[in-house]
Amino acid sequence: MDLSAEVTKVNGIGEKTAEILKKAGIFTVRDLLYFLPRDYENFQDSVKIRDLKPGKIMVRGRISELKTQHTRRRGLNITTGKITDDTGSIRVIWFNQPYRAKQFDEQRDYYFTGSYDLKNGRYQLTSPSATLAADVELTSDEKGRKTLQKKGLIPIYSQRGQIKSIKFHQFFEAMRSEFALIPDLLPGTMEDDYIKPPDFVYPGARADALYKSHFPDTTAEITEARRYLAYEELFELLLASQLSKQENSRLKAHQLPFNADNTKRLVDSLPFKLTDAQRRATWDILQDLGKPTPMNRLLQGDVGSGKTIVAAISAFQAVSSGFQVALLAPTSILATQHYEGLKPLLAPLGVKMELLIGATKRKNAIKSRLKSGEINFLIGTHAIITDDTEFKNLALCIIDEQHRFGVGQRQKLLLKAARNDKPSSAKLTANDDSCSDNLTPDDTIFAPHLLSMTATPIPRSLQLTIFGDLDVSVIGELPKGRQKIETKILKSIDQKERLYPKISEEIGQGHQIYWICKNIEDNPMMETTSVKKQTKKLQGLFPRAKVEFLHGRMKPAEKDEIMERFAGGKIDILVSTTVVEVGVNVPNASVMVIMDAESYGLAQLHQLRGRVGRGQTKSYCYLISSSEDKPTKRLLEMEQSTDGFHLAEVDLKIRGPGEIYGALQHGALDLRIATLTDTPLISIASRQAKQVAAEFANNPENMLKYKELMSGISHYQQLTTLN
Ligand code: ADP
Ligand code: MG
Repeated sequence: MDLSAEVTKVNGIGEKTAEILKKAGIFTVRDLLYFLPRDYENFQDSVKIRDLKPGKIMVRGRISELKTQHTRRRGLNITTGKITDDTGSIRVIWFNQPYRAKQFDEQRDYYFTGSYDLKNGRYQLTSPSATLAADVELTSDEKGRKTLQKKGLIPIYSQRGQIKSIKFHQFFEAMRSEFALIPDLLPGTMEDDYIKPPDFVYPGARADALYKSHFPDTTAEITEARRYLAYEELFELLLASQLSKQENSRLKAHQLPFNADNTKRLVDSLPFKLTDAQRRATWDILQDLGKPTPMNRLLQGDVGSGKTIVAAISAFQAVSSGFQVALLAPTSILATQHYEGLKPLLAPLGVKMELLIGATKRKNAIKSRLKSGEINFLIGTHAIITDDTEFKNLALCIIDEQHRFGVGQRQKLLLKAARNDKPSSAKLTANDDSCSDNLTPDDTIFAPHLLSMTATPIPRSLQLTIFGDLDVSVIGELPKGRQKIETKILKSIDQKERLYPKISEEIGQGHQIYWICKNIEDNPMMETTSVKKQTKKLQGLFPRAKVEFLHGRMKPAEKDEIMERFAGGKIDILVSTTVVEVGVNVPNASVMVIMDAESYGLAQLHQLRGRVGRGQTKSYCYLISSSEDKPTKRLLEMEQSTDGFHLAEVDLKIRGPGEIYGALQHGALDLRIATLTDTPLISIASRQAKQVAAEFANNPENMLKYKELMSGISHYQQLTTLN
């Protein structure tokens, strides 16, 4: 079976279907085989209504009397109806799924699966999923081919475009006899392998797992199949990260030796004492910079922990050794803040700094001074990775809020260092420790040292798997004297009494407010608050205050302008979606209000809260919940803890890693099956990946045996390496 063949090779898939599949990321036979059911249902489990018992149940019947009502008080959309079979009827209810009222054909049977419980004095089926009975009971299509078993477990595939679950059944049915020909993928499954695999990896294991995923007989088979496929995925990920680490250790970098006097001069000139955590992180970095292999270090520190100064000390060591440094920030306002904050510290020590952002005038003059080496330290946005920005000898790249940059952008910056030459003769200070680089032949390619910074804490388990090739420093404490941000959960209806007076008071004291809303405009399908509507409302409530808004669909220049005016104190209340700049420092902002707070993940709530509490003033965060129910675990955790690492661990448990990682990498790494919390499986995969990587390092020709594996992991390598 040729897995890399296009899907049109499968019986029943024509050009038109292939087009739709392509849009869903399914190009090849391999992609299709790995399009796994989102769930399985056993339609034999359905129960007659007469015999229902409370709990999770499945019934087969028709629906009628559908209607949707809006409850003002609870701000909910409630859709109700009646399900009837030949033995009786039950009431059904959905919350905030208004489309349910129009979804059904009242003349046809459906399977409904959900929980059947006593609510407000009567039994009802709450938020069931529904499947058209005809879709899962077909036994033959018009050509007489068997398409669905009537018995046993039926895979449910997510609909893609026009292609419904039933269609996927037909595709797999067409390939059914060929599953046995699916080639193996993992080391340990081929002849004369050196690696002894775990016992669930054996010749034919992959074919078995895929077959059992699409045609299971029992739930035990599904579990077994998932285990193999999860392992396969983890192994690929971990091998990718091992190989990246190997590659990195073979690269050369300019040595930027530590000089105690220089560092001391800078540190002594600071208006504050470094925290112990800052000292440790700085020391890690300064040590790395002195080595002849490129640093690849992630500096993690909660919002406000003082990462910028650590970056500045590192930059100073590079500049003192005669090399250039680039600091890349995701927005103009952040880049400008860095530039203005660092210049007074570094310029007196002789560092020549420049700012390069979209709005910078006379860019060409800066670029030529950069190319000549006159500028030592360039701070900027994407403007610094344009093709015509050339450095003389870039040796250290610093990326702030690294998760906001794509892989391509990071690589573009790093490539700028590839052709740089020797250190400038005009070193800032006499440095008798002469650089060994002067002796290397001219054709050596140097990779820059890379320092990535992020305020999104990555739980340790994720760190080890995804960023296994990365060194990490953590700033785990805030500078002394910071006041804890007081966090309160408030119900929507309590705002008038408990929030608005506080807002008036804070504005009266000259402080500023962030007000976060879910949507930009009102949307009849959504119950959540919109920026536009909230802005109007607040303008009415606080007529003396200057209220403005910000959202992602505004032009970048407009956004910058608003942010600058907010930073300059010209706006009292800024109503915004979550675009509100990550990392921006407006110490005068003292209140963060988050509407519909239950709709955000912990990591994001914590990031948003980190926008306040950055100065001396006592700060507050209000989590507004539109629900009448008890506050969610997430919100309670927010109320109790301001420790980003603790919250990240909790988030990992509540939501699973996909979403946390998603917040870091824009969802680039989409694990199909594996969960990054499956520690036992991870440790098996990790041991194996290390052995295989070592084997490949010693006998590179062995890699050729695993062509499919190697091409698959290059995708992961790009995502997980920061180099
Ligand atoms: P982040 O880690 O979020 O990027 P910043 O580097 O912007 O944090 O620092 C936040 C604020 O704390 C800045 O105003 C900075 O000058 C200040 N700061 C940094 N380190 C210390 C320290 N050790 N003591 C007191 N203030 C500090
Ligand atoms: Mg920062």
